[in-house]
Amino acid sequence: MGIATINPATGETLQTFEALTDTEIETKLALAQSSFKQYRQTPMQKRADWLNAAAEILESDRERFGKIMTLEMGKTLKSAIAEVEKCALVCRFYAERAPEFLADVPAQTDASHSFVRYQPLGVILAVMPWNFPFWQVFRFAAPALMAGNVGLLKHASNVPQCALALEEIFHKAGFPEGVFQTLLVGADKVAAIVTDERVKAATLTGSEPAGMSLAATAGKQIKKTVLELGGSDPYIVLESADLDAAIATAVSARMLNNGQSCIAAKRFIVVDAIADQFEKGLIEKFEALKIGDPMHPETDIGPLATPSLLKDLDWQVQESAKLGAKVLTGGQPLSDRPGNFYLPTILTDIPAGSPAEAEEFFGPVALLFRVPDINAAIALANASPFGLGASAWTQVEAERDRLIEELEAGAVFINGMVKSDPRLPFGGIKRSGYGRELSKEGIHEFVNIKTVWVK
Ligand code: NAP
Repeated sequence: MGIATINPATGETLQTFEALTDTEIETKLALAQSSFKQYRQTPMQKRADWLNAAAEILESDRERFGKIMTLEMGKTLKSAIAEVEKCALVCRFYAERAPEFLADVPAQTDASHSFVRYQPLGVILAVMPWNFPFWQVFRFAAPALMAGNVGLLKHASNVPQCALALEEIFHKAGFPEGVFQTLLVGADKVAAIVTDERVKAATLTGSEPAGMSLAATAGKQIKKTVLELGGSDPYIVLESADLDAAIATAVSARMLNNGQSCIAAKRFIVVDAIADQFEKGLIEKFEALKIGDPMHPETDIGPLATPSLLKDLDWQVQESAKLGAKVLTGGQPLSDRPGNFYLPTILTDIPAGSPAEAEEFFGPVALLFRVPDINAAIALANASPFGLGASAWTQVEAERDRLIEELEAGAVFINGMVKSDPRLPFGGIKRSGYGRELSKEGIHEFVNIKTVWVK
């Protein structure tokens, strides 16, 4: 597939884009490098002003940006507009807090005085996915640019209009030319760009194969990477849980972004005592969801972003069913219309060795597991190659403390769904990746943490 806008709700190719030539890539790399030399000298307050201006542009044009996202990747327009607003929030967060996060930190040592200073690294490459086409980019760019780095964006090939709109926002906000550039290139160009000596580090949000490939190339060049990869987050419901709230939130947590979120709840692990009630409630709510045109305000679930995602998801469902999983509802694409629509689906009685046991399901499919108690719930939650987020529901303090302590994940949310928030670090362990975005930890990923010792 080339670089193109293909409406996932209709299958129609709306616009195709030429990938940059090697000469054009070279021009952009040279510009990034020369911009960095100037940009790193700009006062922090100036960078904050530009970032606040970006927030204003996002808010004043939220509808237009939202529509571009919906058109290219199929999320509902209401969620796309909310995403634009969240991007404004992360801009304002870092505009306000970066001076504090990046201030010198004094240390008491044998020196007359010693301290830690945070300095930018230079040109940072961001390889980004289509699922949150604005949010993923802003949560990289806001801290990276505040720290004095410059950014190169290689966005997913199915969201080129988003990629160009993002460049336009930074430009209009006043950031100097070359501080944030979009490279319209395919994945085949990433290795050469990472290898270029002007690029100092890279971040990738996406699949495991893409992450492995980028990290291997960067590793050969001894360059820092941050990886935000897949997840198969557990959603544990124990006997004391507020069941109505747990069921209602389970639907939002699974169906977020038409089911295509790395931190969507994917494995619902419910204790036997309440499993029948939970199952019944979940089926009712899944069957009540409105699937259709993502531009329509009443729609709950739009299409998957690409035909290949639909095909892969359906294969995972059919294969799991063939091996013995029971389909409680859904279990197939919507065949009465064009576009990549999949029915909200629940699988249970999941057999060992099936895709549903070990793989990430990137679409509106919930995997329901029954367990006898908290011990089995934690063991099953941790029996995953991934470790991104985990949500757990209980009113018992001792259970809460165990879940926080024992769940193998980058984040644990008790009595709520996993979400990203500029004030809290975001990232995973195990095969979900490494490094953190957002908060103080996020802005410290792409800086030289310089030790200064003076006698
Ligand atoms: P993907 O195929 O890995 O694509 C992500 C980005 O990587 C795109 O820009 C893609 O470019 C590029 N890419 C693909 N193969 C590459 C390679 N070999 N070397 C360098 N770059 C490469 O992933 P996706 O299908 O778009 O996204 C789904 C996955 O991302 C899921 O597993 C999901 O959980 C994960 N995800 C994780 C997070 C998180 O924060 N942890 C957030 C969102 C998504 P092209 O489009 O040109 O191929």
